[in-house]
Amino acid sequence: MTAIEKYQPSQDLLKNRVILVTGAGDGIGRAAAKTYAAHGATVILLGRTSKKLESVYDDIVAQGWPQPLIHPLDLELATPEDYDQLASAIHDELGHLDGILHNASMLGKRTPIANYDVNTWCQVMHVNVTAQFMLTQALLPLLEKSPDASIIFTSSGVGRKGRAFWGAYAVSKFATEGLMEVLADELDGISSIRVNCINPGATRTRMRAQAYPAEDVKKNPHPEEIMNLYLYLMGPDSQGVQGQSLNAQ
Ligand code: NAP
Repeated sequence: MTAIEKYQPSQDLLKNRVILVTGAGDGIGRAAAKTYAAHGATVILLGRTSKKLESVYDDIVAQGWPQPLIHPLDLELATPEDYDQLASAIHDELGHLDGILHNASMLGKRTPIANYDVNTWCQVMHVNVTAQFMLTQALLPLLEKSPDASIIFTSSGVGRKGRAFWGAYAVSKFATEGLMEVLADELDGISSIRVNCINPGATRTRMRAQAYPAEDVKKNPHPEEIMNLYLYLMGPDSQGVQGQSLNAQ
């Protein structure tokens, strides 16, 4: 058993914390939003499909966990003004922000670089990298007000070692690791915000099925089974952990 598999988060680990989760309507983001709420957080559910966000909202409310907020936003289309409006809404409605889980991503096409469609390339890089940069930039002032804030980016194995045919997705994940490292270094020692990356590893979601259509899905864990690292990095037990890229499995 790894240290992270042995980690036992307290039930009120995230009590009174406000945490934004992107891509909260499906897959790993859905599991993370519910897990954070189950540990006491008020979760802001950001995603592009309102119906999915509403279903997560209903699940959280039915469990009696803190009432979440829904913020529909398509990261492909959002402008800096949209992110500023989000920051104002969080400030006005909740007063503070203690964490961001950058989870939303798109896979794009799995095809050789030689044939990679330029529009798809730009779309993937925008959703997976530029949108995360803009969202983070807009929310940094709110995070600075928290005594113990955490930003988590989501990486991938192909963001650490490039592999054939993973195209813009792999390159975007290298960039995500880079964004995390640059920001972590900028904030280290001058801010209480910690910045780290999670590589979830093979997990039973729609994106995994899209990337590996022939795979036996049963060999991969459900998102709910990989949440220990998501809790550890978001909560106070990871104070002082800065600039790391860690594996959830
Ligand atoms: P998923 O089930 O496909 O979920 C992705 C989420 O991102 C969905 O909620 C989706 O919203 C949202 N999203 C996509 N494009 C968006 C946009 N333009 N604006 C707003 N939201 C958008 O994928 P997943 O497997 O849970 O992936 C979660 C993260 O883990 C991703 O960063 C992925 O790269 C990473 N990851 C996953 C695996 C794995 O094996 N599953 C492995 C390594 C890394 P809709 O539902 O509305 O489309």
